[in-house]
Order: sequence, then C-alpha cells, then structure tokens
Amino acid sequence: MAISPASTPTDPALREEMVASVRRWVAREVVPVASELEHADAFPDALVADMRAMGLFGITIPEAYGGLGLDLLTYVAVIEELAYGWMSLSGIINTHTMCATNIWYHGTEDQRRRWLPDLASGTRRGALSLSEPDAGTDTRNLSCRAVRDGDEWVVTGTKTWVTNGERAALILLAARTDVGISAFLVEKEPGPRFGGITVSKNIGKLGYKGLETVEMAYADHRLPGDALVGEEGRGLPQILGVMEQGRINIAARATGVARAAFDAALAYAQDRVTMGRPIAEHQAIQLKLADMATKLEASRLLTRAAAERKQAGERCDVEAGMAKLFASEAAFEIATEAMRIHGGVGYTTELPIERYYRDAPLMMIGEGTNEIQRIVIARGLLDRARRP
Ligand SMILES: Cc1cc2nc3c(=O)[nH]c(=O)nc-3n(C[C@H](O)[C@H](O)[C@H](O)COP(=O)(O)OP(=O)(O)OC[C@H]3O[C@@H](n4cnc5c(N)ncnc54)[C@H](O)[C@@H]3O)c2cc1C
Repeated sequence: MAISPASTPTDPALREEMVASVRRWVAREVVPVASELEHADAFPDALVADMRAMGLFGITIPEAYGGLGLDLLTYVAVIEELAYGWMSLSGIINTHTMCATNIWYHGTEDQRRRWLPDLASGTRRGALSLSEPDAGTDTRNLSCRAVRDGDEWVVTGTKTWVTNGERAALILLAARTDVGISAFLVEKEPGPRFGGITVSKNIGKLGYKGLETVEMAYADHRLPGDALVGEEGRGLPQILGVMEQGRINIAARATGVARAAFDAALAYAQDRVTMGRPIAEHQAIQLKLADMATKLEASRLLTRAAAERKQAGERCDVEAGMAKLFASEAAFEIATEAMRIHGGVGYTTELPIERYYRDAPLMMIGEGTNEIQRIVIARGLLDRARRP
C-alpha cells in the first residue's frame, strides 16, 4: 500500500476555516492585482510572502517537520481558491510540494529533518526537474547523467521546463546513473548561476506568467554523496508516484480557473442587455451556463474523489488521471464559453477572461499530456480488471 500524505484526515471544521481564510485573502489581495502582475510577467513577491505566512508552502508537510499537516482534501480546496484568483500561485506551490512530498515519502530521516522544515516555512523553495529537451512524455529517454566520483556525484546535462527553477533553493532532479534513473536533491542558491548550474533560458509562455519556467544546464556540477534520495535506479517510479499528487493539483487548479470564468460569465450574463433583456434570459446563453456549471461541478467532484483516494493511501493513478483529464478539458471549454458570453469585451485585456483562456491550456499539457492521461487511465483499468 502506498504511503498516504497525511496520517489523519483533517477535521472538516478546520478545513472549512482554512479554505475560507484563503478565499478571503484571494478576494482581498489577489483578484485586484492578478491581471496587472500577469501582464507584466512580474513575480508576486508580496503575495508569496503572504502565502508563506499562511503556511501554504508546508500545507501537506507533517507537523513533525514544521508543516501544517493538512490532508489532501484541504490541499485541493486551497489550490482551487488560489487558482480562482491567479493560476500561477497554485503553480508556485505545486512542484515545491512535490519536491517536499518526495523527501517525506522516500528520503531518509536525516534528509527529512534537514530539508522539510525550510520547505514547510517557504524559506527554501522547491522545484522538480524531470523533463529534458528530448524527454518530456518519453521519460525513459532522459540523458542527464550523474556519475559517482569518490564520495560525490558529478551531474552533466540539460533539463528544461523547470518551473520555479531559478528561485528554487532545492531541486528534485531526475538523472541517469549506472543502474538507471535516480532522484537527487540539488541544493543551490536562488539565482541564474550556482556551481556548475546555469539557467540557460527563461522560457516565454502564452500564460502561466509571473513565475519562471526555465532551461538549466549542468556542467560537471558536484553533489554530495547523500544527495541521492530513495534507492538508486528507482527514481522514475518514485517521481511518477508523487506526480499523482501533481495531477490532482492540476485538476484542482483547473477547477479554480473554470470557477472564475463561470462566475464572471454568470454575472455578466445578468448585466448585459440585448434586444431589451439581459442575455441571461436568452435560451442560447442559458444552455451555455448550464453546460459550464455541470462541467465545473463534475470537475470538483472528480478532483475530490481522487484526493480522498490518495489520502486513504490507495492507488489512484486512474482517479488522478481522470480528474486531471476531465477538469483540464472542462476548464478550457468553460474559459472559451465565458469569452463568448462576454462578446467583444471578453477578448480584451480589460477583463481577466483572456487570462483564463491563456492559462487553461497548460493544464492539458503539464504533469503528463491529456493524451498520456488516457493511456494511463486505460492501462490502470485493464490492470485492475486482471486482478482478482
Ligand atoms: C509551462 C510548463 C511548465 C512545466 N513545468 C515542468 C516542471 O516544473 N518540471 C518538469 O519536469 N516538467 C515540466 N513541464 C514539462 C511537461 O511535463 C511536458 O511538457 C509534458 O510532459 C509534455 O512533454 P513534451 O513537451 O516533451 O511533449 P512531447 O512528449 O514531445 O509530446 C508531443 C505530443 O505528442 C503526444 N505524445 C507523445 N508521446 C505519445 C504517446 N506515446 N502516445 C500518444 N501521444 C503521445 C503528446 O501527448 C503531445 O500531444 C512543464 C511544461 C510546461 C509547458
């Protein structure tokens, strides 16, 4: 049985309180500034400081290691709230949390005690670096190498799509060793250069702005012997296991973006008058609203179901894949329909609809494309069908 992210489910009253306080903060501090920061592609320093103060960088990390120790149902509800205000905020938390979770599940007690408290407080930001220029979906094609040299490892290669890579102070890195793909903890100073590591490119993006997604070159970068996390050669299943949580994060993010787009469309439909009545009274618009709300509700329920299953320590590759697949496709459809309901004004930069429309497609690609989700779901179903 897989390890569950929190040993005990969070008290529903505590969960509600946490989610309500994040929701209030998002309405007060995030919504008014999100589009401006996003258009400027500016890192949200003040918002991140607030997120640290609220404990969000350690939301699922056990209290014993300085985190809030909240369960995954709380996590997905909080991620939905963050993405409702600005999807990039949920991305700042995602690979950070995956890096921490990997240490918690697979690290030694020394590694947990050394890294988790700083990650929990957000003093040290985490990232996850699996993808390479020739290995995105095809993870078996990784070419970044870590070679033993006495007590150290020497890393050479190019990684790409490293979200939070420049500001991170700890990167969970997948690299090939003599016995297969292994996971390493790369300690660094935030910034474009550290030891043999160079941020070789800051990748320009359609949306998901305000946080960096970078290419990183490793030129004979030296790691201490204890940088290996988990068993040598078992890095890929280890990281792919943690990615179930990443997929649930994506599903929750998609639900947040979709809810923001739906709320905007519902409000606008009641205000905008054509042919002498609010467009909400035209049946063509009502049909759109009904479909959008149904997809939104289904996204949330699938996300919660996957989170509950993961929380219970059960295998949830199928459920996390279904939630990510459905919610991300729904978010793009809902954002598109919200734009159509807004007519011309939905296409302008005066309203956040265009931001939702640009942010939504990432969720169909990140944490494994939706084509791959379908394959994962089908394989999981067939595998379960074969079992007694
Ligand atoms: C903004 C952004 C942030 C990211 N952040 C991170 C991060 O922090 N860390 C990290 O490690 N990675 C990150 N990624 C990488 C992301 O996980 C990959 O982009 C994704 O897995 C797809 O890989 P690829 O881009 O190489 O596409 P490819 O693998 O080249 O796929 C291209 C197309 O072919 C399809 N395809 C490929 N193989 C198959 C197959 N066997 N069957 C059917 N269809 C197939 C894909 O579905 C897709 O449609 C990020 C990506 C983006 C865009």
